[in-house]
This record gives sequence, structure tokens and C-alpha cells, in this order.
Amino acid sequence: MKCPNCGSKNVGKIGGNLFYCRDCFCEIKVKGNKFVIKLYDHEGRIKRVQYINV
Ligand SMILES: [Zn+2]
Repeated sequence: MKCPNCGSKNVGKIGGNLFYCRDCFCEIKVKGNKFVIKLYDHEGRIKRVQYINV
């Protein structure tokens, strides 16, 4: 799959419906017909949460 946030293909599966993008360091969760994207800052705190329709 491609990262819905930055378009990179450098996305790894970390379990179930959870993915991780190594380029923009976001966590991607597939929930129903939506992607839930969590962006983290350098301290590991959630910076932004985005919802994108699949
Ligand atoms: Zn990305």
C-alpha cells in the first residue's frame, strides 16, 4: 500500500490493520472505509490526526 499522507511506498505492516510509514513517520490505521493517520513529532507525541476516505 501507499502512504495516504506522503505517497511513499515505504510502508510497513505492524500488525492487523495497522501500518507505519518510514518516510513521514506516521502510523496508518485502516478503520472501515477510512484511513486514520497519526503523525508523531520527534519526541513521540501525537502531533496531528487525520482522517482520509479510502
Ligand atoms: Zn508517509
